[in-house]
Amino acid sequence: MRACFFLACIFWCVALGCHNTQNKNAVLAPQIYALRYAVSDYPAQLVNGLQKSGTVKLNWLAYLVRDSSGDNTLVDCGFSDAALRRRFSLRNFRSVESLLGDLGLTPQAIKYIVLTHAHFDHALDVDKFPNATVVVQQREVASLQDKVLKSKLMSLQSRRHLKIIDGNTPLHTNFSVELVAGHTSGSQVVYYRGISGTFLFTGDECYFRESCQKKIPLPRAAAFSVENSRAFLRSLDKDTIVFAGHETDFVQGRWLSDYIFFFDGSVT
Ligand SMILES: [Zn+2]
Repeated sequence: MRACFFLACIFWCVALGCHNTQNKNAVLAPQIYALRYAVSDYPAQLVNGLQKSGTVKLNWLAYLVRDSSGDNTLVDCGFSDAALRRRFSLRNFRSVESLLGDLGLTPQAIKYIVLTHAHFDHALDVDKFPNATVVVQQREVASLQDKVLKSKLMSLQSRRHLKIIDGNTPLHTNFSVELVAGHTSGSQVVYYRGISGTFLFTGDECYFRESCQKKIPLPRAAAFSVENSRAFLRSLDKDTIVFAGHETDFVQGRWLSDYIFFFDGSVT
């Protein structure tokens, strides 16, 4: 009887493919979206790009990653404060929340937010995602000057939704972070290492993918440590797929709308 049950299980599993469920999950590539919540012009001397004077176009971004477990992670979460939008002359603004809505997601669907650093454009809307656990470096919290953001982080901490880490740390699923401290004292980059490749979210360690590829360090005016910026750039593997903090030239995918780029790994 026990043998019959065992054989039946094997048949059922082979017929329905359930033997492979775990493997299937393991090999699924993450779904990666760039959410462009605004655009602006910005002084070239404040970014690490090829152009050294005048202004460059910036995209203001958060990244959404649906990982192999089906969990939604935001790498940075943008901001929506109207005064800051005016101060930085942002155009074509839409909140990250509303862009998630275009993808059929509510703010409640975000399970993790990994903050590359605590500048307003990457972090200020961190309180808009009620179920998210927020990951940030301890040094970034310790040196935080922005009182509004600080109180939001403290509120998250009181609800046990803040995960403060110190240095290079493995996170959920295939995510890990590495402390760089090139842009700010606690700036970190986010890796997703899956079987389909290694994906790197640089925050403002690289404003553009080209800055990483050509190993252009941050200018002193935008750096906590130019040396740390250089060391990070030296450490990069050429096969890593880079998603930069203010990328304007996305490749290997397609724009789903004026606001959302979907990475599908295809060469365009
Ligand atoms: Zn930024």
